[in-house]
Amino acid sequence: DGTAGVVVVNLSEQTLVEAEERRAEYEARRARYARQGHLPAETKDGRRLPVMGNIELPEEVVSVLAMGGDGIGLYRTEFQYLARADFPSEAELFEKYKDVVDVMAGKPVTIRTLDINGDKALADMAEQDEANPVLGLRAIRYCLHKPDVFKTQLRAILRAAYYGEVRILLPMISCLDEVLKSKQLIAEAAQCLEKEGVVHDSKVQIGVMIEVPSAALIADTLAKEVDFFSIGTNDLIQYTMAIDRGNQHVADLYKPLHPAVIRLIKEVADAARHNKIPVFMCGEMAGEPLYVPILLGLGLDELSANSQSIPMVKNAIRAIQIDEARRFVEEVLTKTTSQQIEQLIHSTYGDVLNNNKPHRWER
Ligand code: PEP
Ligand code: MG
Repeated sequence: DGTAGVVVVNLSEQTLVEAEERRAEYEARRARYARQGHLPAETKDGRRLPVMGNIELPEEVVSVLAMGGDGIGLYRTEFQYLARADFPSEAELFEKYKDVVDVMAGKPVTIRTLDINGDKALADMAEQDEANPVLGLRAIRYCLHKPDVFKTQLRAILRAAYYGEVRILLPMISCLDEVLKSKQLIAEAAQCLEKEGVVHDSKVQIGVMIEVPSAALIADTLAKEVDFFSIGTNDLIQYTMAIDRGNQHVADLYKPLHPAVIRLIKEVADAARHNKIPVFMCGEMAGEPLYVPILLGLGLDELSANSQSIPMVKNAIRAIQIDEARRFVEEVLTKTTSQQIEQLIHSTYGDVLNNNKPHRWER
């Protein structure tokens, strides 16, 4: 059972029959959602929410479009830098980004700048001694440390932006200074292109990933400097709960519904609303239909998930009324554990989301 993450051996006849039934239901449901994937995701009270796709390779855009994605909410660009001794050239990067922008034909493409050296290491860093790489010279820290590498990527993005609607997304921001320095480098890259007479767009939207608790807590400050937020729950949960997201020994402690995580998301969404900028989510939490009532109730403006999840997330949005979801969140905020919150979601939305309580497998 991939949904529950359970392998059952030596099934009894009855368990086998139940499993077959569950599989048939699951597949019928997925097929139904996929057929509706190309329709807009509109809540019961008429609010349309873009549901975007996350990609790692340019080739994946095809699947985002096939699943009804309204754009690219997260293009992880590090893969062009991995498994090689040198850095990719501006021309090489520009071609890759332009490919994606062209295929998306005017739909937004959110290009995240290099997020390297956490779970993915550059060849020239492999030797480097970092006891805790995820707390080390990673992502924006690496880029600000290597402005030439960063500027090459920024130039490629600004050039690709000329051909569509591109947004720049800065990863792992933990303080204001990183935002200001990054904006300065983006401005310098645009000025150079201008001087050289190279076709580009200097008016791209600039956003930050909110994936470090310190960024969530100063969201009101950051909101004054950027055009949008995108909450990266994969890292936000890891750093908030001090749980290595790749460590199987603590995987059962990794809880998107932990009250601390919900409160941080609320903090970010409130700061965005007060400062009139949109707030998106591109972490895995945005791809789970069961969390959609909370995310809409908290005020998220756009969700981005892997392409397979897009139709299911759209379907969940259609089952929700925003006012109701806001009241629901007020109740969620009174709960003290993730289990209580999960129970509340099932009892309030389990039926409408067509997602009954997880099956309890015999152990
Ligand atoms: C995140 O941290 O939630 C995120 C989307 O980025 P990544 O998974 O690439 O770290
Ligand atoms: Mg991240």
